[in-house]
Amino acid sequence: MKFIPYGRQNITAEDIAAVVEALKSDFLTQGPAIEVFEQAVCAETGAQYAVACSNGTAALHLAAIAAQIEPGDRVVVPPITFVASANCARYRGAEVLFADIDPATITMSPLACRKILERCAAEGRPVKAVVTVDMAGHPCDMQAFALLKKEFNFVWIQDACHSIGSSWEDNLGIRWKTGEFPEADMTVFSFHPVKHITCGEGGMITTHSEAFAKNLRLHRSHGIMRTADGFSNREEAFAPDGSVNPWYYEMQSLGFNYRLTDIQAALGTSQLQRLAAGIVQRQTIAAAYRSRLASQPFISFPAVADGVSHAYHLVVAQIDFMASGRSRAEVMNSLKADGIGTQVHYIPVPMMPYYACSVASDEINASLAYYRQALSLPCFPQMSDEDIDRVCDAMRKALA
Ligand SMILES: *Cc1c(COP(=O)(O)O)cnc(C)c1O
Repeated sequence: MKFIPYGRQNITAEDIAAVVEALKSDFLTQGPAIEVFEQAVCAETGAQYAVACSNGTAALHLAAIAAQIEPGDRVVVPPITFVASANCARYRGAEVLFADIDPATITMSPLACRKILERCAAEGRPVKAVVTVDMAGHPCDMQAFALLKKEFNFVWIQDACHSIGSSWEDNLGIRWKTGEFPEADMTVFSFHPVKHITCGEGGMITTHSEAFAKNLRLHRSHGIMRTADGFSNREEAFAPDGSVNPWYYEMQSLGFNYRLTDIQAALGTSQLQRLAAGIVQRQTIAAAYRSRLASQPFISFPAVADGVSHAYHLVVAQIDFMASGRSRAEVMNSLKADGIGTQVHYIPVPMMPYYACSVASDEINASLAYYRQALSLPCFPQMSDEDIDRVCDAMRKALA
């Protein structure tokens, strides 16, 4: 019996050929494949600048640096996300404040966020940055957060690790791709193997701001400036005749080695060609689950807001385990015995021992209620119709 995992990468002969070509090229890292990948992501998302880096967590960290988040600053994050969304604030010594989710879409509630923004402003310690998360591939309420940003003047980091290839429609009927909307200051993507497209490990930040793009590039590689127009110590940088000294480079800020290799970038560019087709396949799988499990008691699915094209990084089922009389562990173990992998996305971040004392549980009621019912079902483009049937049959059996 074939095991069906909850997510799986899709590597084709073209991908392998692209990687082999990179391996045979003059550059394994810091070569031309990086810019090709960055330009391809700009073209795909409609962003003006894209900065590739080693993984999504590094991308969040770089975005937090570019946002000038400093020790003692306050950063708002939703509880239902991967821990990295919150950790980027902690890397900068900032305080994380959790704003509850909207129970319909599982993305950060603009209302809950507003309450925190107002309280912090009243305390004279306004919020420095807000990290929204496009949970499972559903864009957060982009227009609401654009309005909040106008009113409260924070840096908006959009964690789009789940939502590359998604889009939404504003109230004028204009459709925006994720990465295209200029009100979101920086949009972060991950290319881990469970995500839509993979580099093995990889990340990207898109932005419409040249200043953010420059800052992200600087800190991606040690804070070292290598281009003449950026040098500040002109006496050391330039010869008396005005030419650049050939050995010269300048470390201007404390950065990291968060670079992506050319090998990984070549894989990413090749994978990107299939992003759109992969999204359609994921949407088809999600629709099949919804219709085939529609009459099954105890199971429902989160709402999709009007105008949203969902990227379905995950298909989360919401299961009333209490009413079904089966615990989540029993259901997961039963599915596993039938060769089906499931996972819970996510344990609320404030429940993690590291964050445990940072929030009162009644402030994140919707997140806790969601968590108790969440179970991610297998969803990846190579799933066959029979695979989907197998998952549905096993679900009925597990809940019977
Ligand atoms: C995967 C993920 C990350 C981290 O990306 P990595 O590439 O694994 O470091 C951050 N945020 C969210 C929401 C993710 O799903």
